Amino acid sequence: MAGKLIKALALNNEFRVFVVDATEMIREAQARHNSWSTATAALGRTMIGSTLLGATLKGNDKLTVRIDGDGPAGHIVVDSNGRGETKGYIKNPQVSLDLNKHGKIDVRGAVGTKGSMIVTKDLQLKETFSGHVPLVDGELGEDFTYYMATSEQVPSSFGLSVLINPDESVKTAGGFMIQVLPEASEDSIGLIEQRLKELPLISKLMSQGLSPEQLLEKLVGRNNAHIVEEQSVQFLCDCSKERFAQAMVTLGSQEIQEMIEKDHGAEIECHFCRTKYHFTEQDLEELKLEARTV
Ligand SMILES: [Zn+2]
Repeated sequence: MAGKLIKALALNNEFRVFVVDATEMIREAQARHNSWSTATAALGRTMIGSTLLGATLKGNDKLTVRIDGDGPAGHIVVDSNGRGETKGYIKNPQVSLDLNKHGKIDVRGAVGTKGSMIVTKDLQLKETFSGHVPLVDGELGEDFTYYMATSEQVPSSFGLSVLINPDESVKTAGGFMIQVLPEASEDSIGLIEQRLKELPLISKLMSQGLSPEQLLEKLVGRNNAHIVEEQSVQFLCDCSKERFAQAMVTLGSQEIQEMIEKDHGAEIECHFCRTKYHFTEQDLEELKLEARTV
């Protein structure tokens, strides 16, 4: 089952608002990485933020978000594209910390507060675009907001939220991105800021059964927005044995020969989805020949 992302314009086209139900996506990430609560929330929030950023792209365009913090979770890497397909991993998935002093899941404790956030966009042009900002908060919502303001010069607000069950499974996950468009008046900005202050966690509202459309209404008020587009979102990894074979060819024939002699084969695991690919000695001999002719 896929999740849903809606794109809307709010008030008098003064704001662009994206809202996503990413529950299934983050459930799949949790299951594939066998991650524990705090790591699941950190990876999940990064995936939700990346999916919201990815939704600003056209179909085949894609982006990578890399969070490099000094916390025990290690780095987080997420890829997303304009079709709502997202994959991601966290260096140390088995991180489970006590709740923070507000009784909330301690994402900052897992991610850390020193480090960087790098967003690389591949818009299928000659060069990729890359934005690099320091981590400013570690809870990640603020970090995405800071990235948008400084690197893309778009004032915005992100809400990223993952609710975890006691058995480590994901109850709900979702989020929003509000971008302030140039036409926005001070009054409208004040109104939205006030609503955001009073807004409960998105994942909490989702656990009460609210749909993305109803969440949109909570964000901007009843009858204040119109939906311009809707798309499905899901955890999807595009890896294949063929792709890893091509990567091995680029290592060169000498390295492949070493794998043949030492291990009589190779097993490669995809970081993103944890699928394992096995290469037999025969497979490697063929790749070695291919590497020689490159
Ligand atoms: Zn994969």
